[in-house]
Amino acid sequence: MGGPEIERLIALMARLPGLGPRSARRATLKMLQDPAARMLPLATALREAAAAVRPCRLCGNLDSHDPCTICNDPSRDRHLVCVVEGVGDLWAVERAGAHHGLYHVLGGTLSALSGIGPEDLNLRPLLARVEAGEVTEVILALGATVDGAATAHWLTERLEPTGVMVSRVAQGVPMGGALDVLDDGTLTAALRARRPVG
Ligand SMILES: [Zn+2]
Repeated sequence: MGGPEIERLIALMARLPGLGPRSARRATLKMLQDPAARMLPLATALREAAAAVRPCRLCGNLDSHDPCTICNDPSRDRHLVCVVEGVGDLWAVERAGAHHGLYHVLGGTLSALSGIGPEDLNLRPLLARVEAGEVTEVILALGATVDGAATAHWLTERLEPTGVMVSRVAQGVPMGGALDVLDDGTLTAALRARRPVG
């Protein structure tokens, strides 16, 4: 179509979530038509983000600071930890503005079907934080899927002996629903209506 550079760019763009081959071609063309304004700033931003952004060693959030900006924020309620599956879920809860505590990103959910066990998830820093005693409530904000429920159950059992209160986001999370597709109002309602587990 226009040389290997363009083909490669389209192929890479098409791998991004939400961009199929058709929208990858459109986005690529748009960039190529104004490289100075659209392409070079993007290239610089990609390079800088790739070099600077790392998972936070405390909570698993992605940030150019480690510990991350949220973990370092003195105005955050350090007694409350909201457990989410992925960074996209953390962003969704932050956007909703309904949680003023800290987070923990699991990096997935337990899944018997996909062979994902506790050792595959980012659990150790969470357990260490809870066992250190500063956390009084762990809010499980996991999707209402079979795997989300299994993960919540496992975590509840594992956290119970520490004496921490474990709650789960309640109404508003649709069955089979992922957290990061909820609108802010629904997510806020789900967080407010959390209830103790067990
Ligand atoms: Zn953090």
